[in-house]
Amino acid sequence: MAARINLLDFTPAEATERLKAWCAEHGEAAYRADQVVRHLWVQPAADFDGISTLPKALRAKLAEFFYIGRLELVARQTSEDGTQKFLFKLFDGEQIETVAIPDGDRMTLCVSSQAGCALKCAFCATGAMGFVRNLTAGEIAGQVRELRLLAEGPITATNIVFMGMGEPLMNWKAVEKVLTIFNNELGFGIGARHITISTVGVLPGIVALGKRPEQFRLAISIHAPMDDLRARLMPVNTKYPLSDVIEAAKVFDRRVTFEYVMLGGVNDGPEHALQLAKLATDCAAFVNLIPLHPGGGQGFRPTPREEIVKFARELRKQDVETAIRKSRGIDIAAACGQLKTERLAKREKAPA
Ligand code: SAH
Repeated sequence: MAARINLLDFTPAEATERLKAWCAEHGEAAYRADQVVRHLWVQPAADFDGISTLPKALRAKLAEFFYIGRLELVARQTSEDGTQKFLFKLFDGEQIETVAIPDGDRMTLCVSSQAGCALKCAFCATGAMGFVRNLTAGEIAGQVRELRLLAEGPITATNIVFMGMGEPLMNWKAVEKVLTIFNNELGFGIGARHITISTVGVLPGIVALGKRPEQFRLAISIHAPMDDLRARLMPVNTKYPLSDVIEAAKVFDRRVTFEYVMLGGVNDGPEHALQLAKLATDCAAFVNLIPLHPGGGQGFRPTPREEIVKFARELRKQDVETAIRKSRGIDIAAACGQLKTERLAKREKAPA
């Protein structure tokens, strides 16, 4: 028999089509397909047995051909500030992180798009792990779904950021579907303006994202306003240099955000502020200054708070709209790749 198919790897429309074809083949009424699809995302069911509107025999028959992929929760940490971090194990043993950040009546989920990452940004814990593999659409969207299924109380996302492990635009095939799953009414129904893709500046991916009619948001990790410094911090700059990234941001038809992680004594001088202001003005970008989460890469120290405020003031003086991002979940190692790294380190330290 052919391998069973994970229904979460499809957009709601694709899943409906597949299931309708299956119903026709197996003498089942077509509306059964709609019933199943409703329980993939809108009212997530743990498995076919959790879809009580289906006759028992049909649930068993469906399970011979399809499955609803699950992620195994292996760790959960809660920060003093309410941020929660989840570590999930995938079918092949790989582990990925998802972070839930409450803020007023918003709940932002930070999802991973790859296991590990190939980009090796100098300050990033995921970069230090190296690349393992792309996640499937079901594994990316599944992170949001799993939080809805938590027995202790479901967490429902109002906003999504692709700022977990991995580079989403190097996994566009899956991410393209996931965007539909997040946004579609038969998916999670989250407004496109509440969904942000964060990228180091993968040019073909930016073009592809720009072609989507929905208003998904784009954030670009700039981190240095000159090529030589940026190449040292982000090796990908050799492939996609700053000038090309800025050009892509300029032609992107929505306003972009620049992410800029503040590295003490490295990229936080007045000359950096001036040059960054120039780039941001060039493409009318909004700048988000990110305090460095300690425990990423080695050899960096965070810029002191007053210095970040000064840097922000410099940017605003140049009429660049600037925000200083709140650092969330410091006590639970909530930055990219840190929970997995921390657990591995503990395991290595533990006596044999
Ligand atoms: N690959 C994508 C998305 C994942 S990382 C990207 O690079 O944009 C999301 C953001 O977290 C990026 O801006 C990344 O540079 C930043 N980041 C990584 N490690 C960090 C750390 N230790 N402290 C603060 N920000 C960090």
